[in-house]
Amino acid sequence: KAKVSGTGYHVYDDVDHDDGAARLRTMDELQSAIAEGQFVLHYQPKVDLDTGAVHSVEALTRWEHPTRGLLHPGDFIDLVEDAGLMRAMTRVVLAIALDQAARWRADGHPVSIAVNLSASSLVDEGLPDEVFTMLSVRGVPATDLQLEITEDFLMADRDRARKILSRLRTGGIRISIDDYGTGYSSLSYLRDLPVDELKLDRSFVQTMTDDDHAAALVASTISLAHSLGLRMVAEGVETLGAYTELTRLGCDEAQGYFISKPLPAARFESWLRRQPV
Ligand code: C2E
Ligand code: CA
Ligand code: CA
Ligand code: CA
Repeated sequence: KAKVSGTGYHVYDDVDHDDGAARLRTMDELQSAIAEGQFVLHYQPKVDLDTGAVHSVEALTRWEHPTRGLLHPGDFIDLVEDAGLMRAMTRVVLAIALDQAARWRADGHPVSIAVNLSASSLVDEGLPDEVFTMLSVRGVPATDLQLEITEDFLMADRDRARKILSRLRTGGIRISIDDYGTGYSSLSYLRDLPVDELKLDRSFVQTMTDDDHAAALVASTISLAHSLGLRMVAEGVETLGAYTELTRLGCDEAQGYFISKPLPAARFESWLRRQPV
């Protein structure tokens, strides 16, 4: 039976024939996706609820697969992780986002871009220096970059996490806790961690208009964030009702289909031009 040397598993094992072959094909495809620029970013605006202005967007990765069409992260993120390619993908995504930030800045309408980081890419102590180099070669200020991390990353290795975050944040990059409220959220880590913003998970936002408990949780989370000096962002805002209620509760920013879905850069630019100023 044939074996692939060095990978530690047998491609043509009787039991594993399909899985192994498919796995290798996927690895191969992911590697060419990275090498051939098949990853693209779509941008979803975050609206400032005090002013209605859009100063920042979240970058969401899409894979323009040569045969399967446009894939969302749910279709490939786990594969990237399993293939050990998250580090490489993160670099690619950061480069695309920072190139875009440089273009928007050159065009005279700077927009800050939030990039999602996986837990695995943030145990990587080389990341802060690399990110600062990527910023400076493009002449993009650190304030044009935001990083979104989930709570699972914080649990992995808290001291290391805090060190990496501090270096990023001291350099001017803003840090958000993503999917806030779904993970292990303790008051002490919020006090200790170098973060700027909480992004309330969409499950709370989506239920707040017809569930009193959810509404109370949202209200108290906003107060908590503000009392700790953190900005509060709501994601998954799909209705006028939620948008209005979040504004009333003093939430700082909102993001969701009610405002716009994630769009390719050019379509985001025309969306932005259509907004009342
Ligand atoms: P996330 O960071 O929580 O991003 C928000 C997700 O909700 C996005 O899904 C977005 O398209 C979707 N969304 C936006 N507005 C609404 C809304 O009003 N209603 C609903 N139901 N959904 C909304 P997407 O683009 O499929 O991304 C899924 C997840 O993949 C992201 O969740 C993020 O955790 C991860 N991801 C995306 N890009 C990257 C990346 O470059 N690197 C890493 N490590 N993860 C990424
Ligand atoms: Ca996010
Ligand atoms: Ca989220
Ligand atoms: Ca505010």
